[in-house]
Amino acid sequence: NGSLVCVGPGMILGAHMTERCKNHIQQADVVFTSCHPVIEKWLATLNPCTHSLQHLYADNKDRRNTYRQMQDTLLKEVRNKKKVVGVFYGHPGVFAQVPHRAIQQAIDEGYQAWMEPGISADACLYADMGIDPGAYGCQQFEASQFMFYQRQLDPSAYVILWQLGHAGDLSLTPRLTGAPERQVLVDMLFKYYAPSHQVAIYESPFLPTQQPRIIWQRLDGLPEADISLISTLVIPPGRRLIPNDEIVTRLKSIYPPSH
Ligand code: SAH
Repeated sequence: NGSLVCVGPGMILGAHMTERCKNHIQQADVVFTSCHPVIEKWLATLNPCTHSLQHLYADNKDRRNTYRQMQDTLLKEVRNKKKVVGVFYGHPGVFAQVPHRAIQQAIDEGYQAWMEPGISADACLYADMGIDPGAYGCQQFEASQFMFYQRQLDPSAYVILWQLGHAGDLSLTPRLTGAPERQVLVDMLFKYYAPSHQVAIYESPFLPTQQPRIIWQRLDGLPEADISLISTLVIPPGRRLIPNDEIVTRLKSIYPPSH
């Protein structure tokens, strides 16, 4: 009977993969990968029946078509009664639509399907940058979604914007957007932060020998910054937490202090 497991090898080659992820890959009938090319080469050494899904991306091709084709590729082999494993870099369920959708479809069609967690870019970011998302709370958005829809940003929390390289891309192709689109994003952020507010562009390495790239700079310099498809934007809090006196007063009334 066919099955589908979506797993994540983490960010760093050979360093982040869980035992379960490795076992699933080794025991699969067929493995499909969407990862850095170096990582895909290594995955092929774990299971000879490994195929990359990366060729489904193409310039000027709507990413939604690519995702649909990836999902179809996974499901086709499940229906062929294969034990299918999908490997998606980082955590397979973090800012990745294909694994969630493919698993749901497989379940709907009566197959066993589930996800195993992996180490995502934000997990690496917390470690490399010394940030605790619980210290002030942490909001995360896909940069374009933040731009296309009316959202409530909380500038007293950390804010992480993913897919900065595609920010404002209405074409939904894999192309990088540029300074004009990022200027629109920055103008939106000026509603919450001073132009001089320090933000960071974070890039986790893929190889154990590399160091993370962490570039601190002023918010108003972001349009001109050097952004890649793996850049993640980190915005530290720009406002203090404001006490909720009404609630604290109400809580105090539950257990009045004993004198
Ligand atoms: N599933 C992946 C994320 C895929 S979405 C994960 O678990 O991390 C792609 C986005 O992830 C990029 O646009 C970028 O915002 C972030 N990302 C990918 N690789 C990264 C890296 N090496 N360093 C920092 N962020 C990265």
